[in-house]
Amino acid sequence: RAKNAGRNRYRFFEAAMTQAAQARMALEVSLRPALARQEFELHYQPRIDLDGMTVVGFEALIRWQHPQLGRVPPGEFIGIAEETGLIVAIGGWVLREACLQTRRLVEELGRPLRVSVNVSARQLAQPGFVGEVRTVLESSGLAPHCLELEVTESALIEDMERTAAMLGELQGLGVKLAVDDFGTGYSGLAYLRRFPIDVLKLDRSFVMQEDGRISAFDFIKAFVDMAHALRMQVVAEGVETAEVLDFLRAASCDEAQGYLLARPIPLDALGALLRAG
Ligand code: C2E
Ligand code: MG
Ligand code: MG
Ligand code: MG
Repeated sequence: RAKNAGRNRYRFFEAAMTQAAQARMALEVSLRPALARQEFELHYQPRIDLDGMTVVGFEALIRWQHPQLGRVPPGEFIGIAEETGLIVAIGGWVLREACLQTRRLVEELGRPLRVSVNVSARQLAQPGFVGEVRTVLESSGLAPHCLELEVTESALIEDMERTAAMLGELQGLGVKLAVDDFGTGYSGLAYLRRFPIDVLKLDRSFVMQEDGRISAFDFIKAFVDMAHALRMQVVAEGVETAEVLDFLRAASCDEAQGYLLARPIPLDALGALLRAG
């Protein structure tokens, strides 16, 4: 009996695995032509300056409208895009689209705004990446200081020497560099000092603990002070409550992003929000 139960459990497991693998495969197959079929769109999540409570920039977040499945969240396809290498083409499109749309907004509104674009490790690993960024800035007409590139700690670790040199070149163009999801990886501030980082984006889990409580104030405050001493700006991600917002302001955090302030929205809505002031 025991043996039977074990076998059944195995069969169940095997079937579940196959289903997951099939779903992943199906997604991969439809991801390949998605760019050419223009199924991607960018949404933008405003970033707010905590002193003036004004919108100083926004993060470009990709959205995929799958012809059968409807909207597929990035968490479900970015990983596949990275594994297959499709992220290089998709990421290139994101960069061009974000720069062009932002240049138009900056021109219309007559004030500097910063667009933040997520860049994956596979893109950074491309020898021509710096050249690509330079070309996109030129063809879009966006001022380099209006573009910020977000990389994760794990992308920095991959080939440290080369990555540090490359980030130096990007900074040389005038582009801002941010570390995304800080606090979810293994590195600390001391480690990040080796890279020319302008902005530290604190992951939601850095400020909000798993039990739903806010982290110790002294700790966060000391951390923000240390980042400032290293000339890094601190941006908090995933701010959902007024309590967290007050906490961050008291801890002298520079900027914040989160559902409390604004959700990621289509370009039209972003334009309307910015025009309204
Ligand atoms: P991320 O770069 O850390 O982006 C922030 C994510 O948190 C976004 O999810 C955003 O919608 C969500 N978020 C914003 N405010 C809140 C909040 O108050 N509470 C909570 N719980 N979540 C909030 P999204 O758009 O689903 O993107 C997920 C991830 O997919 C991104 O995380 C990023 O790593 C990746 N991603 C999105 N667009 C791109 C892209 O164009 N290129 C690359 N390489 N990755 C992308
Ligand atoms: Mg990001
Ligand atoms: Mg993030
Ligand atoms: Mg995050």
